[in-house]
Amino acid sequence: MATIFTRIINGEIPALKVYEDADTLAFLDIAPASPGHTLVICKNEVATLMELSDAQLLATARTTQRVAAALQKALQPDGINIMQNNGSAAGQTVFHYHVHLIPRWNDDGVIQFWQHKSMSQADFAEMVAKISQAL
Ligand code: AMP
Repeated sequence: MATIFTRIINGEIPALKVYEDADTLAFLDIAPASPGHTLVICKNEVATLMELSDAQLLATARTTQRVAAALQKALQPDGINIMQNNGSAAGQTVFHYHVHLIPRWNDDGVIQFWQHKSMSQADFAEMVAKISQAL
């Protein structure tokens, strides 16, 4: 079954579109974390970052940068979070690759969900080895 984002691409359901090209689409998130919260999606129905082709990755990265610049110009936020969830454990609810652009203002009260933790040097070293050997 097509994802809700494919249905938006196909014009079956409406979206507040701000930008579209052959490979990507950007529209306002229906439940914004902050004013201007925008989603950039890849038109190909691919669930996660890891499944994107090089061309899809480049296209979505370009649109993300372009829309981020537009948000900066139009809304003049103090910062912009670029976020992207892969898998339900990471908070992904729509399994169609998309990037969140969340304009931020000083003291806007938007909650950053992660807390930094400490890690031993040995555990850091083990982690570096594990990840680098998988590349
Ligand atoms: P994620 O949790 O990373 O998968 O993000 C999915 C996002 O899609 C959420 O922030 C939703 O608010 C947003 N969303 C879901 N349906 C729609 C829709 N029809 N139009 C715009 N945004 C949507």
